[in-house]
Amino acid sequence: MVILKNVTLYDFKKYLENAFIAFDKKILKVGTMKEYKDYIQDQNKKDYKEIDGKGGIVLPGLVLGHTHIYSTFARGWLTPYNPKSFQDILNQLWWKLDRGLGEEEIYYSGITSGENFLKNGITTVIDHHASGEMISGSLSILKKAVVDKIGLRGIFCFETSDRFNIDECIDENISFYEKMEKEKNKDARGLIGLHASFSLGDDSLKKLSKITKEIPIHVHVGESIEDINWTKNHSGLSILERFQKYDLLREDSIYVHGIYLEKKDFKLIKQTKGLMAFNPSSNMNNGVGLPQVKRTIDLDIPFIVGNDGLGFSLARDYQTLVYSSNINAPNSFNIEYLRKSILYSYKFVSRRLGCLLGSLSEGFESDLMLVPYHSITPMTKENAFGHFVYGILEQLHPKEVWVKGVHRISNYKLLQDISKELKDAKKCAAALWKKIK
Ligand SMILES: [Zn+2]
Repeated sequence: MVILKNVTLYDFKKYLENAFIAFDKKILKVGTMKEYKDYIQDQNKKDYKEIDGKGGIVLPGLVLGHTHIYSTFARGWLTPYNPKSFQDILNQLWWKLDRGLGEEEIYYSGITSGENFLKNGITTVIDHHASGEMISGSLSILKKAVVDKIGLRGIFCFETSDRFNIDECIDENISFYEKMEKEKNKDARGLIGLHASFSLGDDSLKKLSKITKEIPIHVHVGESIEDINWTKNHSGLSILERFQKYDLLREDSIYVHGIYLEKKDFKLIKQTKGLMAFNPSSNMNNGVGLPQVKRTIDLDIPFIVGNDGLGFSLARDYQTLVYSSNINAPNSFNIEYLRKSILYSYKFVSRRLGCLLGSLSEGFESDLMLVPYHSITPMTKENAFGHFVYGILEQLHPKEVWVKGVHRISNYKLLQDISKELKDAKKCAAALWKKIK
C-alpha cells in the first residue's frame, strides 16, 4: 500500500485540500490530514510506503481520446513534402510511413510513446493503428509494448482501408477484440477501426457490416472536404448516412474530427449513441479547419479529446480546444464543457475496459498522478478547473505516476530501465527512414 499525504485531491468533481490518499491496485481510502493519524494507527501492522506530496495536486491519469502511435517515427523525417490538400498530406507523409511499418517498428513506437504518454500524465490511450508490413498480429504487438511492458491501459484497433488487404484488416480487428473481451481484460480492449469513408469502397463496407456485427467502430469522419465530396459523388449520401446504410453506426462508436459533417450526420451520431473525438492541434497543423464543437454541444453529443498522433501530450490539445473554440467570440466555449468531456472520457473507458477509472474515490483503480503546482492566486473547489486549464495544463509533467497501483514515473523519470529498448528504437527509426525514403 502507498499513502500519499499532504496533497490536494482533485478529480474534476471532488476537491479536497490537506488530504491523503491510500491505495494499492485500487484506491483504499481518501481523507483529510486531520483523519490521517487515526487511519495510520489502524494500519499499524500493515506494510505501507508513505510519500509526502508537499502540497502537490493528485489527479486521475488522463485519457487520450484518439492517437496514432504509428506516427512516433515521423518526427524530423525529411521526405519530399509539399502538400496542397489533405490527400497530399496522406500520400506524401502518413501513407508512405505507415505502409513501411512492421513488427519491430510497431513494438518500438509503442515503447517510446508509452514512456512519453506517462510523462505527460496520460494513463489510458485510444489508438488507431496502421502498419502495412504487419497486419495480422499487429494489435497484440502494440499491446505488448504499451500495456504489458510500459504499463498503460489501451483501446486498440486497426485502420481498415482499401489500401490494405481488407480481409486481413477485418480479421485483425475482430480477433483482437474477441480475445480481449473473452479475457475480460481491464487493461486492453479492441474496437473496429476504419480509416475513413473515402478510403473504403462499398464491398469493403458490406464485409465490415456483415462480419463485425455490433462491435463499435472508430473512424475518421469529415476530416477534410475530400471525404465529404468523395462520399457524395460516390453514393449520393452524407458520410454518416453511408455508414448507416451498412449498419455500421453502433453505440459507443468514436467519430473523429467531424469538421465537415452536416447537421444530419450529427443527428445520426446522437441517435445511435456515438461520440466525437476532437483533435484541434492536428486539424490546424493539417490546414483543414476546426471541429464543430458548438454544434456537438448544442446537440448534446458527448466528446473526448485526442492529439491525432501529433506528439505525446494531451494538455496541449485541451488548451487548443479552449483557445480555438473562442476564436471568434469571447467565452463562446465555456471551460465547463471541457470538464464534462474529461469526465465523459473516464465514463467511456470505464465502460469499455470494464473497470472504474477517473475518480479519486475508494474502490476506483489507482491510475493517478502527483503534480507539483504552486499558484499565486487562491485555489478553491469553485475555481479548481480554471486552475487546471490555465495553470496545471501549462506545465503538465507529473512528478509521480501510478497505473493500476504500479509506480511508473518517479521524480519525473520512468522507473523501469528501458535504455536498451530506446537504443534499439533509435536504430529502428533510422533503418525505417532508409527503407521508405
Ligand atoms: Zn487520426
